[in-house]
Amino acid sequence: AITDSNAAAEAALGVLHATFGYDQFRGQQGAIVDHVATGGDALVLMPTGGGKSLCYQVPAIVRQRAGRGVTLVISPLIALMHDQVGALDEVGVPAAFLNSTQDWSQTEEIERQLLAGQLTLLYAAPERVATPRFLGLLDSLHAHGQLSLFAIDEAHCVSQWGHDFRPEYRQLTVLHERWADVPRIALTATADATTRADIVERLQLQDAAQFVSSFDRPNIRYTIVEKRDPTRQLLQFIEREHEGEAGIVYCQSRKRVEELAQTLCDHGIDALPYHAGLDAALRQKHQDRFLREDGLVMCATIAFGMGIDKPDVRFVAHIDMPKNIEGYYQETGRAGRDGDAADAWMAYGLQDVVNQRRMIDESPAGEDFKAVMRGKLDALLALAEATDCRRARLLGYFGETMASRDGADNAMDSVAGRADGSRAEGQNGLKSVPHPYCGNCDNCLHPPDTWDATDAARKLLSTVYRVQQASSISFGAGHIMDIVRGKASDKVAQYGHEQLSTWGIGSAYSEAQLRGVLRQLIAIGALHVDAQAFNTLQLLDAARPILKGEQSVRLREMRAAPKRERVRQGR
Ligand code: ADP
Ligand code: ZN
Repeated sequence: AITDSNAAAEAALGVLHATFGYDQFRGQQGAIVDHVATGGDALVLMPTGGGKSLCYQVPAIVRQRAGRGVTLVISPLIALMHDQVGALDEVGVPAAFLNSTQDWSQTEEIERQLLAGQLTLLYAAPERVATPRFLGLLDSLHAHGQLSLFAIDEAHCVSQWGHDFRPEYRQLTVLHERWADVPRIALTATADATTRADIVERLQLQDAAQFVSSFDRPNIRYTIVEKRDPTRQLLQFIEREHEGEAGIVYCQSRKRVEELAQTLCDHGIDALPYHAGLDAALRQKHQDRFLREDGLVMCATIAFGMGIDKPDVRFVAHIDMPKNIEGYYQETGRAGRDGDAADAWMAYGLQDVVNQRRMIDESPAGEDFKAVMRGKLDALLALAEATDCRRARLLGYFGETMASRDGADNAMDSVAGRADGSRAEGQNGLKSVPHPYCGNCDNCLHPPDTWDATDAARKLLSTVYRVQQASSISFGAGHIMDIVRGKASDKVAQYGHEQLSTWGIGSAYSEAQLRGVLRQLIAIGALHVDAQAFNTLQLLDAARPILKGEQSVRLREMRAAPKRERVRQGR
């Protein structure tokens, strides 16, 4: 077996050089190719642009030459199949695809080539695989020992925890059940621990070797800003940093997509809308223009982007918060595939948090599902609120520890001498430099001033508790803040809330400050926003250590608030 695998490794390297013209395998490619070429099952997690295609294309060629027949590649996207087959054609590898765009005679011709052993790779959509006709084709290939390998691309589509669930992927278990002796390789560019476990279970890959590459995209600079006037903030970002460059702006709704595309055009930025509600021909046209022309900005819902390989996208912006970190990572990953500097920019605010919570609460899904979704949203909120390195957080989410970059040690030195341990509002110009340090995210480059919001958090939480006790119903964020700040209102009078012991105890804080604290408390799961009950706030378990003074809360200092209304405590 050892000589076998040596021979396979040699053959693989030969294919890499001769067919693809590359000097060496990248990252884990070599190990994956050797494993799969010799008949092992594999689950491959590799970021976009990492080189997943070669992981099955090289084994497909090696195995075909060894007389084992054709590799079947399952891919969810017609455009992607098209590109891949075209690229293989250029390097002289016989490949074809079967999909719904072809007429009967084209289909028949490909089936003929397939059965005649003329193809090295065949691409097909998942829904095609489960058809009786296709299963029959695979049966006859298998009967002749000509079914070499199954490659399942975009494997996260099998998981409802993933960001692009496709029910047809569930049917792919047939591959394993019907032809258990044919090796399988499943590949994805995104998968947190939950999704990964789900892929393994759904596709029965328990015995497959897992190859997990680093998900770091060092050329992408991550920036997350607080939403004030998001359209204006976006315009500034594009005009200052990406004038005339290609980018994608993700929006939550179709309506917003169209409005924003118009607004950008009004400001002289070449922008196009893209969402699933647009006519298919127009959508295609906009996509083609984006791919071909220079410097277009695509305003889009998440319907846009999967499988789109445009190397010089210089920025990806989220004007509304995505659902979770996987979505964020996947979408931002479309920037800078050429390796040159690129930006991932996001604006988020309290309303995003409330909206996303509401969407989860109101979805018809089961409670288990909702709990997972809430957990994922919380992780994203924690990323948004983080005062330390975004990249470290992002990679941490995928189970990866970031190696600190140069400069981290120096940077740490300057933190040591914080004058006043209790509160550091940046008044001494001392800033806390994040550790670990990537040097290419907003928090590393411009360490945010932070303030100790523990006191404000406790005042808010105990007010939520007391109004609940006093009135046996819950109240929303606005009312809670009014009580803490001692601001009279009809509602306050109606419920007699000026009698509460927490009335006015936080009058030194601005509304904006308290809003920031509330957002963080929601983000860390100390408070729950109940969408079924007028967005009222309820205490959760995580509030307890804060109330008891066992846990402190540090918040980023808000820069340049719209009105200079903040009151510094103790001055
Ligand atoms: P993914 O599917 O993981 O997003 P691709 O398979 O499309 O990535 O590969 C991304 C780019 O990297 C392609 O242009 C590909 O030709 C190139 N590439 C992949 N592997 C290598 C390698 N070993 N050496 C040089 N270039 C490579
Ligand atoms: Zn960083």
